[in-house]
Amino acid sequence: MITEDIIRRQALEKKLLSVSKGTLNVEEKRQISRWRAQELKEKIEDYLEAREKIPAGLERAQQVEVRKKRILSLLGGTEEDWQDWHWQLSNRITRGEILREILDLSPRETALVEEVGRKFRWAISPYYASLIDPGNPLDPVRLQSVPQIAELVPDNGEDDPMAEEFTSPAPRITRRYPDRLIINVTNICPMYCRHCQRRRNIGEVDRHSPREDLVAALDYVRENPEIRDVLVTGGDTFMLSDQQLDWLLTELDSIPHVEIKRLGTRALVTMPQRVTPGLSAVLAKHPPLYINTQFNHPQEVTPEAAEAADALIRAGVILGNQAVLLKGINNDKHVMKRLNHELLKIRVRPYYIFHAKQVTGTGHFLTSVEEGLEIMEHLRGYTSGLAVPAYIINAPAGYGKTPMLPEYLISQGKEKVYIRTWEKRVLEYPNAQ
Ligand code: SF4
Repeated sequence: MITEDIIRRQALEKKLLSVSKGTLNVEEKRQISRWRAQELKEKIEDYLEAREKIPAGLERAQQVEVRKKRILSLLGGTEEDWQDWHWQLSNRITRGEILREILDLSPRETALVEEVGRKFRWAISPYYASLIDPGNPLDPVRLQSVPQIAELVPDNGEDDPMAEEFTSPAPRITRRYPDRLIINVTNICPMYCRHCQRRRNIGEVDRHSPREDLVAALDYVRENPEIRDVLVTGGDTFMLSDQQLDWLLTELDSIPHVEIKRLGTRALVTMPQRVTPGLSAVLAKHPPLYINTQFNHPQEVTPEAAEAADALIRAGVILGNQAVLLKGINNDKHVMKRLNHELLKIRVRPYYIFHAKQVTGTGHFLTSVEEGLEIMEHLRGYTSGLAVPAYIINAPAGYGKTPMLPEYLISQGKEKVYIRTWEKRVLEYPNAQ
């Protein structure tokens, strides 16, 4: 019986791909559709099972609330303080003994954090610390924020793998492309990511770029009329005051050839309290404005992040996510898919997955390119196109973003090409001339 079904199905499907598909009757078409629907259902069974085990911030608010209360009591803060980004910033956790209390670290673990911290600065906002499950040493938020001994293991990393210092024609500017550039405005971040590609800039002292450097950078933009897109980044641009951001965006708006502005910030992830009504009002004055942030794990997509995203969207800002592919955090096809689904729920469009760069002290986060391609293979077709970002390798020496794609074009002729679908079916397709 089963064999008969298979034979019948193969015969009907053969017709589907041939000119005789018009001869299929209504019942045959419905039958093919039912088979296909069942087949499609089975294709995501593994994901649906895995999804249940992937922690997501929108489902963990209660646990986070308990940790928040504990952190507030340790730091002597109030609920009102917690909502105040200035309090969050000035109470960043920077001492081993406080972290030990929050995460129940052993004396040895605490000593290691301090040892690594002497070489690579660390700081964690109380909010971001509240997202860490203290019972899980491999917690993805912990791995991104708490110094690990692996950072001291010699690796092949460089301080500046993208050679930003060789692509800076004016103070604070990085220019790698014909029509756009970066202005770097600060070295301050709510949390110093252990995988940061610009950790060389973090230093020991928090500082914004001096006003005269920013004026020189703006002059460069003014003098180069082909620049239509300016990305303001850092550090974290949301560490600037509302007034500083307003000044900078007003200056950029006064340059006729600047068509769009972008801000780089991880504050939605690490300190969503920064998105105040005052900040939203400033940003609303400067359309068109795009913000790219960096959620790396679904655990970071919390109700607070959703609220901050909502406020920014109401201010007319368009939000995108630039995840970094990180070993032990999101180098898993199911985790990355869930991350992208959670982001779409809060209206942040997955934009890029960056292959992690070879930065000194971050070798333990590196994955193979094959892992990245495997993730892409399991996004395209398996889920909405909106949940499929571009996988990018930043070429060495500042030669720019290079997209990495599974191979979908098998062969190319003048009259036809052979394509490979997301399910690995190889099909002929006409090539119109
Ligand atoms: S927020 Fe960005 S600049 Fe700041 S530490 Fe993290 S990756 Fe680096």
